[in-house]
Amino acid sequence: MRCPKCKKDEELRLIQQNLRELSLLGSTSIASYHIDHTLIVNIDRRGIRSLTTCDPSSSLVYSVNTQVGEFVIMRSPTLDLNPGIILVDLREKLVDARLLANNLYAISFVRFLQKNASSMASRGIIRAYGIKYLVKSNEDILVAIPIGDAGANNAEDVAEKVTSSIQDFPPDICMILRMMKEL
Ligand SMILES: [Zn+2]
Repeated sequence: MRCPKCKKDEELRLIQQNLRELSLLGSTSIASYHIDHTLIVNIDRRGIRSLTTCDPSSSLVYSVNTQVGEFVIMRSPTLDLNPGIILVDLREKLVDARLLANNLYAISFVRFLQKNASSMASRGIIRAYGIKYLVKSNEDILVAIPIGDAGANNAEDVAEKVTSSIQDFPPDICMILRMMKEL
């Protein structure tokens, strides 16, 4: 499809969650981040139903799965968890940001990842566009937890437990929430 604002031609990737929505509700939406605006596409079984842009990008639709370059960020249902967790399947380029209230954090983290993925250590603290994250990854999955200046003690435990427990991607969110409660 072609973005009506910047005329960029683009292929959008539907993820399993979109297909489920399509079969249950008859339609689904996916957004694509174009830096100063966002393209929002609504699809039904017959194809594209509407194509709109959201300008500026900061007035983002928080609960729509959003494509950022080759990555797709899952955003629904969005659960507000403090401090929040971003999970990334590095191979499939799929990002689970359902456990993060702030969509802008998810987008800026993915943009950081696009530039720095190859040079990132498998664990440690990084600063991406002014936000500090504790990151930990095993071969396939990267966990990023936004942390304040106060420290990363609890985040370390969470990251450790999540990376060692996730079997499938997207992960079972209920399992992660239970895990958080136990820590
Ligand atoms: Zn555009």
